[in-house]
Amino acid sequence: MSESIKNITQNIAIAKPWLGEAEANAASRAIMSGWVTQGPEVAAFEQEFAAYVGASHACAVSNCTTALHLALLAVGVQPGDEVITVSHSYIATANSIRYCGAVPVFVDIEPQTFNINPLLINDVISERTRAILVVHQMGMPCDLKAILDIAKQHGLPVIEDAACAIGSEILWDGQWEKIGKPHGDIACFSFHPRKVITTGDGGMITTNNSEYDKQFRLWRQHGMSVPDTVRHGAKQVIFESYPMLGYNYRMTDIQAAVGREQLKRLPEIVERRRYLAQRYEEMLADVVGLKLPSEPTRAKSNWQSFCVRLPEKCNQSQVMQVLLDAGVSTRRGIMCAHRELAYQIESWSCGVKQKDCECEAGSCKLLTESEQAQERAIILPLFHQMSQEEQNGVVEVLKTACQV
Ligand SMILES: *Cc1c(COP(=O)(O)O)cnc(C)c1O
Repeated sequence: MSESIKNITQNIAIAKPWLGEAEANAASRAIMSGWVTQGPEVAAFEQEFAAYVGASHACAVSNCTTALHLALLAVGVQPGDEVITVSHSYIATANSIRYCGAVPVFVDIEPQTFNINPLLINDVISERTRAILVVHQMGMPCDLKAILDIAKQHGLPVIEDAACAIGSEILWDGQWEKIGKPHGDIACFSFHPRKVITTGDGGMITTNNSEYDKQFRLWRQHGMSVPDTVRHGAKQVIFESYPMLGYNYRMTDIQAAVGREQLKRLPEIVERRRYLAQRYEEMLADVVGLKLPSEPTRAKSNWQSFCVRLPEKCNQSQVMQVLLDAGVSTRRGIMCAHRELAYQIESWSCGVKQKDCECEAGSCKLLTESEQAQERAIILPLFHQMSQEEQNGVVEVLKTACQV
């Protein structure tokens, strides 16, 4: 590897939020207004977000994990229920099911898209199944049409974990539509800095069901019957009440002000990411044995992550170390919740009746594609400000790394 390449790749992060003066001024505007928690900026952000994805309602919350928790509660998930999902996801997906006292039932993924394999869902539906929680992993839309068909047959609600998928699109009855419309019952988004737009931390829940939306608004604020924004503007004394158990899952107005600026940048961010992803595909096409991610014809990804499968002969951590030595940050494939200590065998299921199951902690015969993806894939740097020279450098170093 030449010195000139090393000069370029010296310090390439896996991801970088694109924030600037506009966001700093927006945060300042919220601070100087004197109203800093959930208030007018949150309300405006919700309206703009709903308009962007094409949803009737958008409710801002503290992050996507809390969004998922409320979504599952809204569709009635209770202790002892089962929720079908993937193990191959950030742990928040499965955790949100356990917060409801329910059991995540893990289904394996399709190797090509890293998303839930719809053909395997029918096998794990039981009388205890209460919902299907699908993930648009790394921004790639999952096969929603096929999943919704199955869900309808069984009368099951579908929640979309769209944490990574703001700006991704899906072909729906011949039209490109934004993820989050939502196509299932409820979609949940994240504004963590590792995602495509950020508010520091933050989340959004979209739905076309006004009853769900009402529920979310109560739950996120301790179940309080009269929001503080209303009491603040009231000319008469009002006392609030707490008819139900709620949570503090609020977003602040400082975050929402930043989010509104990020939303304005989103089309440009998605365009740039798609351009860089295509460049990766072109430049990496000739690496023998390297498997590149690709979009099914029904999907347009925002490429929140660009994840490649290494050639058989390559050792994942060695390749990552060669890249790191050259200054390039990578991450291994998406984690599998069922392999973590927090997921002892009783806390999840692969749908096989416990007595017939030969699963061990950390390994399951029915989840081999998930485990393979974690062990054999790596995520390459991709962010809005990445220059072509930096990307060329990453490609150069990866090619060298794959040869060792
Ligand atoms: C990041 C992520 C989450 C959690 O989002 P937070 O906003 O950090 O709570 C959930 N699901 C998936 C698939 C994610 O990538």
